[in-house]
Amino acid sequence: MDTSRRNFVLTSLGVIATAAVLPKTMLGQAAPPAPPPIVDEKEPLATSLAYRKDASKADATKRIKRGVTEGKDQFCHNCQLYAADKDGKGKCTLFTNRLVFANGWCSGWVVKAK
Ligand code: SF4
Repeated sequence: MDTSRRNFVLTSLGVIATAAVLPKTMLGQAAPPAPPPIVDEKEPLATSLAYRKDASKADATKRIKRGVTEGKDQFCHNCQLYAADKDGKGKCTLFTNRLVFANGWCSGWVVKAK
């Protein structure tokens, strides 16, 4: 292999190796968006709706039978206002731009349409 060809090959390999280790942001690719914040049980809207991230800790006098669904069977994951995201959390129509826990509950629970 002549010198110029060897230099070209070595330079190309260096560029490829460098690109492989550079963060995507340095290559002009946007980083994935940060996940929305998680609803804090102590924030005003959450307290007004008696939201608990663990439904078993919800106020039993409020987590009562609705329609044919007993209170103990009500969770965010089976609420009409819940849209599953990942890691056991999802978006809720009432808590705009934030995540609630799939096993959470609040007094805004609405049976999921089938
Ligand atoms: Fe969970 Fe439904 Fe209450 Fe939203 S409205 S916090 S999804 S129970």
